[in-house]
Amino acid sequence: MSSSTVPSGDPGCGSCSGAGYVIKPLGSLAGAVLCDCVPECPFCGGVGQRQVQVGDRVRVGRCRCRMLPDRILLFNRAGIPARHAHSSFSSFLPDKNPGVQMGYRQCQDWVRDYQPGQENRGLILFGGVGRGKTHLLVSMLRVLIMDHGVEARFVEFSHLLSLLKAGYDSGTGEATTLMPLVRVPVLAIDELGKGRGSDWELGIIDQLVSHRYNALGTILATTNYEPKPATGLSQGNLAQPEHAQTLGDRVGDRVLSRLKEMCGFLRLRGEDVRHFMKN
Ligand SMILES: [Zn+2]
Ligand SMILES: [Zn+2]
Repeated sequence: MSSSTVPSGDPGCGSCSGAGYVIKPLGSLAGAVLCDCVPECPFCGGVGQRQVQVGDRVRVGRCRCRMLPDRILLFNRAGIPARHAHSSFSSFLPDKNPGVQMGYRQCQDWVRDYQPGQENRGLILFGGVGRGKTHLLVSMLRVLIMDHGVEARFVEFSHLLSLLKAGYDSGTGEATTLMPLVRVPVLAIDELGKGRGSDWELGIIDQLVSHRYNALGTILATTNYEPKPATGLSQGNLAQPEHAQTLGDRVGDRVLSRLKEMCGFLRLRGEDVRHFMKN
């Protein structure tokens, strides 16, 4: 059966332009919902299962119309914050800012080259505040999940630290908190290095990154810090410029060097682009 026979969105639809789904803020997260323009499946009547003839036997199989609802479910489990419900490659306007243009294209190339089920080199976007790093990170996740059906998880770094700490405090850390973050094929960490991680928390991050390294998991991330080894500078020293600290200072040199093995680093140059983004 060709995909054209599965019901999909109406290209003339004013809500989804034919995508068949709409992404909008749902509570604190960005949520995907099936668009009203998608007709009921003529093969299964929306049940999601259909009988197929295999040789002289009739088997019950999953109907292909489930693909879009399955991806919607994946998106809604990814934990993308509501404020990024409208972040996509098409809502990012790189032409207004040549300094970010190359980064924008490289993020699109990265998603295009991603091979589901294979080992993929990750990508870490770095540069000053307001370059649209998180917008691009979410844009990549959106394409991975909705166009390619890849399972992914978005987590803000300081939230990741408190999540892991809460898991270990309750005595269930390894199984219920750490392992799901190790197993998800694409883990996207926003604001890597932000917040004051204790030695214990940074030790857990080290474990998480090492486990993902061994499991061939892909890491995407954004950070305001330069991917350089620790300088020994401490946070909050008023005599030094903001972000004089490096990523090595923030996550430790061990984690930094592991990340360099696993990921490419992409600097986003240019002026603050926040005011160029349309929603
Ligand atoms: Zn629609
Ligand atoms: Zn169906």
